[in-house]
Amino acid sequence: MQAPNPAKLSINSATVREQWSLPQLIEGCVRAGIRGIAPWREQLKACGTAEAARLIREAGLTVSGLCRGGFFTGGTGQERQAALDENRRAVDEAAAIGAGCLVLVVGGLPKDSKDLAGARAQVRDGIGSLLEYARATRVPLAIEPLHPMYAADRACVNTLGQANDLCDELGPGAGVMVDVYHVWWDPHLEREILRAGRRILGFHLCDWLVPTRDILFDRGMMGDGVIDIPRIRVWVERAGYAGMYEVEIISAARWWKTDPDEVLRICRQRLVEAC
Ligand code: ZN
Repeated sequence: MQAPNPAKLSINSATVREQWSLPQLIEGCVRAGIRGIAPWREQLKACGTAEAARLIREAGLTVSGLCRGGFFTGGTGQERQAALDENRRAVDEAAAIGAGCLVLVVGGLPKDSKDLAGARAQVRDGIGSLLEYARATRVPLAIEPLHPMYAADRACVNTLGQANDLCDELGPGAGVMVDVYHVWWDPHLEREILRAGRRILGFHLCDWLVPTRDILFDRGMMGDGVIDIPRIRVWVERAGYAGMYEVEIISAARWWKTDPDEVLRICRQRLVEAC
């Protein structure tokens, strides 16, 4: 099996968000010879979208995605409308920085609700409403299924199968984000990756640590956990994905406390050795 091409490495800004601002990350990527980047909106805002777009362009970086839109669910129509307005702004920002897609973390249960099916219907309607705008702006929407432990508070789309069903229903402009952290456990993963095919808009890498001490902030460096990443990577490539390998490690105890130049160096090394 051939190792991934390190020229396709992209760094998600969450990986070093405690150490570096977006301009610092851009400089760090250039120093490390890394050619891809994926900012979060918070950092884009802190930098200014136009300024970020300029810095990214001048550095010659490819933007594998913008994190994130979504959170379509809400207890009232007003809340859901506000979410939609916010998502349109996220689409504009993705277009401004030339992002390959806008990543959607779709939202969980509305406050005080136990209606999971209803929440999922709201997600479908929300993405459906956003799609026309996203298509006109030429920003593909990447539905990211999240591990079921986040179903209540972050995303009620929890399997790649569910995300594929949504894409089937919603049509062109909607695709999926495959994040190994969220989908590695799924017995139907291979089938659903092949089903997604060219709708795969991005590929997020990290690892599942045992034990996982915090469900949000304890993701591992590739190779430090139990996910058979090369196996999943081969499935994704077999499905036709030829985009970037985006490292997204949210790690408060370890990688946010490490020298960020060193983090980038290890990301590159592990992409080749453990993915
Ligand atoms: Zn992800």
